[in-house]
Amino acid sequence: MTNSAKRRKIRVLFAGSEAVPFSKTGGLGDVAGSLPRALKHAGARAAVITPLYDSIPQEYKDRMKHVGDFYVPLAWRSIYCGIEKLSLQGLDFYFVDNKDYFGRDGLYGYFDDGERFAYFAKAICEAIARIPELECDVLHCNDWQTALCPVFLREFYRDVPQCNNVKTVFTVHNVKFQGQYGDKVLGEILGLSHIPAAADQLRSDKDSINFMKGALCYTDWITTVSPSYANELQMPFYGEGMDGIFRRRSSILSGILNGIDQTIWNPASDAMIPANYSQGELVNKAECKRALQEECGLDQDPTRPLIVSIGRLTDQKGLGLVRYSMDRLMSRGVQVIILGTGDHDHEEAFKYFQSKYPGKMCAKIAFDNALSHRMYAGGDILLMPSEFEPCGLSQMIAMRYGTLPVVRETGGLRDSVAPYNKFTGEGTGFSFANMNADEMADTLLGACELFWTDKPAWDKLVDNAMSADFSWRRAANDYMDIYHWLHPEIIRYNKRRDR
Ligand code: ADP
Repeated sequence: MTNSAKRRKIRVLFAGSEAVPFSKTGGLGDVAGSLPRALKHAGARAAVITPLYDSIPQEYKDRMKHVGDFYVPLAWRSIYCGIEKLSLQGLDFYFVDNKDYFGRDGLYGYFDDGERFAYFAKAICEAIARIPELECDVLHCNDWQTALCPVFLREFYRDVPQCNNVKTVFTVHNVKFQGQYGDKVLGEILGLSHIPAAADQLRSDKDSINFMKGALCYTDWITTVSPSYANELQMPFYGEGMDGIFRRRSSILSGILNGIDQTIWNPASDAMIPANYSQGELVNKAECKRALQEECGLDQDPTRPLIVSIGRLTDQKGLGLVRYSMDRLMSRGVQVIILGTGDHDHEEAFKYFQSKYPGKMCAKIAFDNALSHRMYAGGDILLMPSEFEPCGLSQMIAMRYGTLPVVRETGGLRDSVAPYNKFTGEGTGFSFANMNADEMADTLLGACELFWTDKPAWDKLVDNAMSADFSWRRAANDYMDIYHWLHPEIIRYNKRRDR
């Protein structure tokens, strides 16, 4: 055996309330499905733990193997937990099985979400303690649904040998969703009311228990999904009441830009789009545009810039600006397709515009993954004027498909889109600074102007966008540095082996 064979790999358990291809409502699902794989390539022993939702396709459920079961203590109750396992393309996924909590149609939005995800967090801690193959050096938690893991590990498991050297990393994907519940939760569900220090760190005001605040106080390292958002989180405007904690803990706060899964999102091999194309071979992108126009009932006119928007229909995504500008945009001869679900008034507004502008505007009020692929491929421009955007994946996916993003300069949008410079021809998209509908429309129509009048400049931007590297490799290496920083003994051990 060579020395290098005896090196110790850092063991990372990645905990997420959704993971592609099993469950997804947004970017977190994409991240949990692809970052752990990149961590493996970067040298970790990584696995994922996620709930066993009813909605997971049966073909996956049929292939799962039962690896253990136990009862999870949750305040005064003991609740069943089964652990199922499925290996997919070399990565192990573990599923927390409890029909009462997860045997439902959707992922979130139930009256007992606080209890469901408190249970999930406690089940993860129990699983680490009880199932040898789940022992880990780092438990990487994500968003409020797993925010209680660092709290529980410290308060209930520090004397458990399998847990006492587990370090936690907590990633904030969106500080807007913190998991806030009434004060009764502390004793009735978390079983923490007898520990004044825990109560103090979990309370965000005198009547509410805040899961994310708990993680931010207890975890060993905090990350968020772009460097700009890491700065923004420390400001009152973006910090949603947590900015003080982010400032206090800024020495352990890192911003690491997400990547995208470049095998799933690849126009050269994507089976969900009508015709494949690649950088420098873009003839078929025109066919994708024509097919999309036909599918969405728009005029099949290649000279109309086709603006697409894919995402949750919530205020965060800057949809107020889009609604305000719609008449102006339509009067200039562009086409718009919106795909998303969310707030009722946004849904209704876009349906109204569809009826007002037949053949020019289409609103698809749905969550439709296959259609999203066809839109990334068929669009000319992706519009993303977010009020705040921790990272944003849609703009990176769009660039990979040669669809130029128009974004507001915030969070990950600022970090991933290089705005067009008309003097040098550099850039991968277009951007504007303020939450102002006219500023957005000016930028968007400026992009359309380039589309109409300067094809070589447009094609150069498309080429730049398609050559940008949004693979997970860079991010995975940054996370590995943090994990190792938390476990210097592993570095020392490996150095001794290498000698
Ligand atoms: P967020 O996590 O804030 O929802 P992101 O841009 O980080 O936004 O990630 C959104 C992901 O979800 C992207 O992969 C996007 O394509 C996908 N998505 C969002 N809404 C829909 C929808 N209605 N149909 C299909 N995919 C969607």
